[in-house]
Parts: sequence; C-alpha cells; structure tokens
Amino acid sequence: MINVTLIPVHKDNYCYLLEAEDGSVGLVDPGEAGPVIATLKEKKLQPDVIFVTHHHWDHIDGIPGLLGRHSCPVAGPFSETTRILQMDILLDEDSAFEFGDEAVRVLETPGHTRGAICLYFPESGLLFTGDTLFSLGCGRLFEGTPEQMWNSLQKIIALPDETLIYCGHEYTQANAEFCLRVEPDNQALQKRSEAVKALRAKGQPTLPVPLKTEKETNVFLRAGSAERFAELRALKDRS
Ligand code: ZN
Ligand code: FE
Repeated sequence: MINVTLIPVHKDNYCYLLEAEDGSVGLVDPGEAGPVIATLKEKKLQPDVIFVTHHHWDHIDGIPGLLGRHSCPVAGPFSETTRILQMDILLDEDSAFEFGDEAVRVLETPGHTRGAICLYFPESGLLFTGDTLFSLGCGRLFEGTPEQMWNSLQKIIALPDETLIYCGHEYTQANAEFCLRVEPDNQALQKRSEAVKALRAKGQPTLPVPLKTEKETNVFLRAGSAERFAELRALKDRS
C-alpha cells in the first residue's frame, strides 16, 4: 500500500507525497517548492519521481526548485511537452509505469486543459485527479468542451466505489454550497456538507474522499448526460 501525505501549497492547492512500501517516494503536482522541500527534509526523504497532472503553474511551479536539490525524473501528460518543460517520462493511457512495485494507470481526462491526466493506483485504490475532479465539483473548462469533460468524468465514475480521491485543490466547502442549491433534498450531500464544515472549522483537509461519496453527492458526477453537465457547469461559472 502507498502512504499519502498532504502538503498544502499556495492558497488552496495540495501537493501529495507518496511513500510506497519498498521505500519509493513520489510527489504529485508540486506547485511550490518550499513547503515540499521542507516536508522531504523533515521526513528525510528523496523523491524518486515527480508526477504532474496538467500544465497549470499552481501544479508545476515547484519543479525547478525541487530538481535543484533532488535529481529525479518528471512524469506527466505526453501531449504537454511544450508547456511542461522538465518531463522525462511521457504518460498516456497505454503507458505501463510502475511506482514501488505497483502499476500506475493513466486516465487521459481532457476538459480543464487539453492534456490533463489523472493518476490511478489500482492496488492501493488511489486516484489523483488534479483539476479534473474536485470534491463536490469539477475543473473549469479552460481548454475543453462539456462533452470532453463529461467523457473524462465517465472514466472516473467507472472506477471502484472505494477508490480514494485526492484532488488538486481544497475547494470542497464552497463547492458544497453550489451542490446544495442544485440538490437541496439530497441527504448524503447534506451530511457531507456538515462534515466538511466541521473539518474546515478545525483547519483540516476534506480529502481524500471515497469515490462512492462523490457519486452520491457531486452534482457534476450525477448529471447523467453531457447536456445536463454543460448546464450545471455554465450555472456554476456564473455563480
Ligand atoms: Zn488547473
Ligand atoms: Fe489548479
């Protein structure tokens, strides 16, 4: 199993530190070097690989600072070589990549950006979604159509219910308000919203979240069709 540590970076991003049983160390989306270097130092760890989900600065800006101290390969979306300049390993859905004796499956999930990927660790049951899926939300459609994003979300919906979702941002509390406007009578959503409020009041993260909970509460996953998804995304953009 892989042990995951959340490292808050910037205002509301999470970088994730992965530790496999064989000692392999990975990072996902180091948007800022300082807090990540501090955590590595504290835990006396060296990264063996840096994963990135998409090209946005708040997910990759820590890479040069990390590579200045630690030498390790950077693995990210194959189609983003011109926008993520430090990549050594180009990932697509056919990639056979291993981390700590565990297979890593890549989901190509365009919508938020053209080249966005999610990283799935089937054995440990972990999914790193970047800005494709948030708890109770999804990424804005900066470079994709609603149809593309809806198709991308279907790939996530198809994963096992117990999969733990690790998103790129702590947006859950604000997202809950929007979901409650759409589905005010959804009891699972009401319950999750209360739990999220309590966690945030204590300054604690709302992640990871099981995919089952998201399927019961996230109105974007529950849209049912690309058309309805497009309506909800447009409504959220205006709110
Ligand atoms: Zn982004
Ligand atoms: Fe982001």
